Amino acid sequence: MICTCGNDRFIGHQIIRADVIVGADGSFLENVTDRLEDSIYDAEKPYGPFTCTACGREYDELR
Ligand SMILES: [Zn+2]
Repeated sequence: MICTCGNDRFIGHQIIRADVIVGADGSFLENVTDRLEDSIYDAEKPYGPFTCTACGREYDELR
């Protein structure tokens, strides 16, 4: 999809799963590395609302 401003990049939302460091009780302590993206092992399909990176216009769906 192309935004009315001519841009084709949007900010969406995505659920990810990542390896993390946990304590003795299993609770989250910190990320494995400073770069969270290096620890991601699964990611779901991005969902809206989507915001145009150029003009900020918001869309519920991209089509
Ligand atoms: Zn736009």
